[in-house]
Amino acid sequence: MTLTTADPGVLQRPELVTEIPGPKSREIHARRERAVPRGVGCALPIYVDHADGAWLTDVDGNRLLDLGSGIGVTTLGHTQPAVVAAAKEQLDRVSHTLFTVTPYENYVRLAERLAQHTPGAHAKKTFFVNSGAEAVENAVKIARAHTGRRVVAALDHAFHGRTNLTMAMNHRAAPYGTGFGPFAPDVQRVPNSYPLRDGLTGPQAAARTIEYLEQRIGASDIAAVIAEPIQGEGGFVVPAEGYLPALQEWATANGVVFIADEIQAGLGRTGTWFASELFGLVPDLVLTAKGIADGLPLAGITGRAEIMDSALPGGLGGTFGGNPVSIAAAHAVLDLLETGGPFAEAARIEEALTRGLRELARDHAAIGDIRGHGAMIAFELVEPSTAAPLAGLAADIAAHAARRGVLLLTAGSYGNVVRFLPSLAVTDAQIDYALEVIAEALPD
Ligand SMILES: *Cc1c(COP(=O)(O)O)cnc(C)c1O
Repeated sequence: MTLTTADPGVLQRPELVTEIPGPKSREIHARRERAVPRGVGCALPIYVDHADGAWLTDVDGNRLLDLGSGIGVTTLGHTQPAVVAAAKEQLDRVSHTLFTVTPYENYVRLAERLAQHTPGAHAKKTFFVNSGAEAVENAVKIARAHTGRRVVAALDHAFHGRTNLTMAMNHRAAPYGTGFGPFAPDVQRVPNSYPLRDGLTGPQAAARTIEYLEQRIGASDIAAVIAEPIQGEGGFVVPAEGYLPALQEWATANGVVFIADEIQAGLGRTGTWFASELFGLVPDLVLTAKGIADGLPLAGITGRAEIMDSALPGGLGGTFGGNPVSIAAAHAVLDLLETGGPFAEAARIEEALTRGLRELARDHAAIGDIRGHGAMIAFELVEPSTAAPLAGLAADIAAHAARRGVLLLTAGSYGNVVRFLPSLAVTDAQIDYALEVIAEALPD
């Protein structure tokens, strides 16, 4: 299997035929501003016409290098041929019955495959919903039903979604919670491990988190602790070594369900099936969404069979959950991951990006940290003398890159992180080009 190609016919640089955004994008954007509420944010008013691999072609005919993949969704590339074929074939066969009314085999088989590939050899069960937030909500429901306890503890700098329960779990009030209260009760946030900012070792940071859990909440009231093994919106914060295993060990010893939110980091993105593997974690529940179907909406909750069976029949599910077309696409994604090829591509991308960024950091002191795994790499921008977050610069870099045809995402609780979530189809030459463009926007 090859996702990338050394074919010289493959575009290595953006092809811009208008200014960015072009006139057609601007015209649609003006209509959007009248028809769509501003709360549905807009990172970049470039309207897409079609896409393939790491490339987007906009309505003005510009070819743009996409290093965001719709926030880590089209990990195997836009319009991945095997995924498209599987979805089309399923669409012709049957598109909806509702699994809880008239079931179908591909749902059961995907549950079996996720049981096989998620960390740990214990008996597991899986069910499917439509979005990441819905997966988080359901994991909390199950943990509460299993433990008979109330509280869910999330980490500082976390992001878990935009529904009522999940917005109470997010670190950032603005924009995710502002004006939207009252919020779900019995959600608590506790300190995470953020090596650049707390200077703590993994065990020290875990001791601090556990002190909060025990003193401010009390273990006997905690149903679940939820962690993104590598935080996504929080700025690709990679916890110090030993932090997550210590937290998991504490959870297990105290009857607390440990939930890994792998929605952004899972399924090949970090060069492993799941980011949990990078830290030696075997979570009780594992949440998947974003990349699972390479662009079709699907999310999964996979966990220890005895925990997953805590809910009464009919307590879990939803009309569109586990739609057969999304499931068919997910099987094609898993087929590709099982070849091992995507993991090698993720390792190659990690190498190319971190090497290039380290070179940039030598000349540009504003790059205060480079971190991440696989095709989930970020750099954090700081005031060199104080390490204070430099927020405006990340947005300036993304805006400059867009004008040069490279789509980059920002992240971080302070808005000072530039993150790369490229498709695994991105080539080294394309990465080099993106780094050149970034260098143009960095202060000396
Ligand atoms: C995107 C994301 C979610 C929410 O997923 P939606 O599909 O947008 O509801 C939850 N957790 C993490 C880590 C995410 O990156």
